[in-house]
Amino acid sequence: MDTVSTPCEECGGTRFQAAVLEHTLGDLNIAQVLDLPVAKAHAFFADGPARTPPPRRSSRASRTSGSVMSAWVSR
Ligand SMILES: [Zn+2]
Repeated sequence: MDTVSTPCEECGGTRFQAAVLEHTLGDLNIAQVLDLPVAKAHAFFADGPARTPPPRRSSRASRTSGSVMSAWVSR
């Protein structure tokens, strides 16, 4: 099966709009943040360049890319 694909010129395959990717947290854009392994993402948000308090520490939110997204959106 032919699996050739061409990454989108605007987003480079991240499927985020260029305007979204312009926003960075620490030195990472949202696509890069969502790409972080969970352990690195946790360090990034807890003590790393993002320097944001862990979001909703006591909630049932799990350490998934979904909760990383929530942290981003709530800023
Ligand atoms: Zn695109």
